[in-house]
Amino acid sequence: MHEHSDQSAAADHGVVISGPDKKENCGVVGIYGHPNATDLCVLAMHALQHRGQESAGIAVSNGEDIRGHVGMGLVSDVFPKEQQQKMTTWGDTAIGHVRYSTAGSSNIANAQPMLVEYSLGQMALAHNGNLVNAMLLRDEYEAHGHIFKGTSDTEVIIHLLAKPTHISKPDTFAHVCRHLQGSFCLLLLTPEKIEAARDARGIRPLCIGRFANGGYIIASETCALDIVDAELVREVEPGEIVTIDKNGLHSRYYEQPGTVKPAHCIFEQVYFANPSSMVFGENVHNVRLAMGRQLAREAGVDADIVVPVPNCATCAAQGYAQESGIPYDRGFTVSHYAGRSFIEPEQPMRDLAVKMKLNVIREVVEGKRVIVIEDSIVRGTTTRGKMSALRRAGAKEIHLRVASPPIKNPCFYGIDFPSKKELIANERSVEEIAKYLGIDSLHYISLEGMLSCVSKPADHYCNACWSGKYPISVDEIVTRYSQDRFQKKLFE
Ligand code: SF4
Repeated sequence: MHEHSDQSAAADHGVVISGPDKKENCGVVGIYGHPNATDLCVLAMHALQHRGQESAGIAVSNGEDIRGHVGMGLVSDVFPKEQQQKMTTWGDTAIGHVRYSTAGSSNIANAQPMLVEYSLGQMALAHNGNLVNAMLLRDEYEAHGHIFKGTSDTEVIIHLLAKPTHISKPDTFAHVCRHLQGSFCLLLLTPEKIEAARDARGIRPLCIGRFANGGYIIASETCALDIVDAELVREVEPGEIVTIDKNGLHSRYYEQPGTVKPAHCIFEQVYFANPSSMVFGENVHNVRLAMGRQLAREAGVDADIVVPVPNCATCAAQGYAQESGIPYDRGFTVSHYAGRSFIEPEQPMRDLAVKMKLNVIREVVEGKRVIVIEDSIVRGTTTRGKMSALRRAGAKEIHLRVASPPIKNPCFYGIDFPSKKELIANERSVEEIAKYLGIDSLHYISLEGMLSCVSKPADHYCNACWSGKYPISVDEIVTRYSQDRFQKKLFE
């Protein structure tokens, strides 16, 4: 059963629609100036579905009025043909959002875009990322009597945008962006324009494309541009605000370029982004291929076949096979009709998703020395299930090679890793993990090796989940909220 909700400013009366969680991986898209804005938005959201599968929403403007529709489930659940047809007449400008959230917060109130009415009229906001100072800001507002419907960091941004002293600034959006710490790609829709902002470190990706008719698209990944036949123009730069209105595309910076070192999330390259996408200036498939090659150089082993854990490790496995000269083969088949296990919110659902999704091809692995390539190991429970399935199918030896280093720390910038104690590499050695997984050998790529596979200097990427070196300090929130409300699970 899917829960849907039409949003209208009249219905909302300025009450913010939001949810209780803070950690999310999401995808955002904005379409400006196209007669098929809703349809294109839906298509682009399909392309971004891997970034979030719990809820989807679109807000559409006709130049005077914004209307929205959000719902729980996949894009196809929330926007069936009838719903899409209903919305096509709503306007030629739209923003869309696909969302993933943490356990317990998967409900309609959390779906975005958030559509509200405030003193200047209507606005709708879509956010990908995670603010580390959201709770600090929220506490300040609450101390002054502000009421929040949920605990979402996106709701905090809405309050910042609606605050009278901020509205009185010459550039409210830029002023508000300077208040935000953490990762954010924001799409702000007002009746007459779309504004897009990216955090000053460029933690999450955001790109701009153009349609042949002169309209524009802004999206989390270029795979969304490809599906709607838009031409890639460029990325939204870190610290930049791009405005698209009747006069075209304009740019300004709320943080001058060069003042803050970039911290692109390299986990986007390792796992999260679509292999066809250009992320942080380079193709994701090529980066993963290079990581596989590097892994083969660092952790070679005599074996018969190289097998990827579908789907994210496929590119790395190809790279490993190319470098090692060991034949690549498919050891698993995958069902495309089950969700990604990593971003299923509840453990029982994750386990079920893995079982539904993967089958071992016995004829490929039986009696063979198998090198299995995995992109990352988070909890280890699902990896263990895959390894034991391989063993049951008759694999003679299992050598697991991982295309990212051991994950030991939580992410505060928008990837929902489990609590520190649930991370298998947190307090276990590689040998202990290999034993737990029931395999013959285990090697992770080195941090330096992984960072050598991307084109920008190593210090332009965030790697805190491996190294523990957070590019934006989290000390204050850890101190202030570890025993309180903020991301309790991270500190258990
Ligand atoms: S901590 Fe890890 S997942 Fe989070 S932004 Fe940094 S590299 Fe990405």
